[in-house]
Amino acid sequence: PLVLGIETSCDETGVALVRGKDLLFDAVASSMDEHARFGGIIPEIASRAHLEAMVPTIRRALEGADVDLGQVDAIAVTAGPGLVGPLTIGAAAAKALSIGLGVPLYGVNHVIGHAAVDELVHGSFPDQVMALVVSGGHSSLLLVDDIVTGVTELGSTLDDAAGEAFDKVGRLLGLPYPGGPHIDRLAREGDPTAIRFPRGLTAAKDQAEHAYDFSFSGLKTAVARWVETRTDAGQEIPVADVAASFAAAVADVLTAKTIAACRRHGVSTLVIGGGFSANSQLRDLAAVRCAEAGIELRIPPIRFCTDNGAMIAALGSAALSRGVAPSRLDLPVDSSMPLIRVTV
Ligand code: ATP
Ligand code: MG
Ligand code: FE
Repeated sequence: PLVLGIETSCDETGVALVRGKDLLFDAVASSMDEHARFGGIIPEIASRAHLEAMVPTIRRALEGADVDLGQVDAIAVTAGPGLVGPLTIGAAAAKALSIGLGVPLYGVNHVIGHAAVDELVHGSFPDQVMALVVSGGHSSLLLVDDIVTGVTELGSTLDDAAGEAFDKVGRLLGLPYPGGPHIDRLAREGDPTAIRFPRGLTAAKDQAEHAYDFSFSGLKTAVARWVETRTDAGQEIPVADVAASFAAAVADVLTAKTIAACRRHGVSTLVIGGGFSANSQLRDLAAVRCAEAGIELRIPPIRFCTDNGAMIAALGSAALSRGVAPSRLDLPVDSSMPLIRVTV
């Protein structure tokens, strides 16, 4: 069956066509350029951009896939989590298509979509996979027995997401928004052992309750204090070393906890998704530690890690194939949709 997926949770308008586990075409438009000068996503601007991009992006996806709207068997759309205005625009388009075409509608979870998309790239998941979803808005560790009916959230960030922490540290180092890619680049020139920044929630006392949770706000504060102290003393800031030491702390915690979870649950495949998986310090350390632990590492190409329609079509297609009941046509969007809900 042919599934058309629509993603609008943040600043990307994504539309893709998937048949089973084959991606036919993925079209994406982004309003990031319009937000950059504000130093953050402005929901109203994003909503308007989705409205303008929706029909052209759907057209582009259909043309790219060389299919007619009439051939579509089901519509999938992000139901949450995300920004409520943008989500509403995607849902409205999806409902209209579902009603107009007389095909079922599946409202799906964006975060789980970030893991599901890997099946389009690297093939079906084995019986169990661990998924680390890291982006500007999320940092979650999921144990996946089945991408539709068996997702367990083992942990998530208690405060900032990994990408968010990078962007905040970028700001305090005076880098342009979003700071993540700039820190990554600087970090490659610095010494990751120059400064020992804290590893959040890794102390023995955190093992019982927060073994697989993350916390990056203490780290961000530690970087801010370190920079402040040097600045007050009139010293120069070794920006590359700060970036490298900070990035090393984030990558260390993410990979250590994820691999501990794989060991604990006997899982030998790790999928990393979400826009932050572009981060080279995370990629490098994950590759090394997975190899040591005998874990297969799967990371989709970057364009499937940032927000896109293929991830939503993939999860919709998986839901359809398992005979999950479609969503109601009044499908409510949920800005803080919990990870226990794969579909609505
Ligand atoms: P979501 O709604 O899923 O959270 P998002 O738009 O917030 O989506 P993405 O677009 O998936 O997040 O990812 C963007 C985030 O990843 C930003 O915080 C950005 O700074 C960060 N990022 C992107 N590339 C890198 C990199 N190479 N190193 C570090 N951070 C990066
Ligand atoms: Mg984005
Ligand atoms: Fe996302």
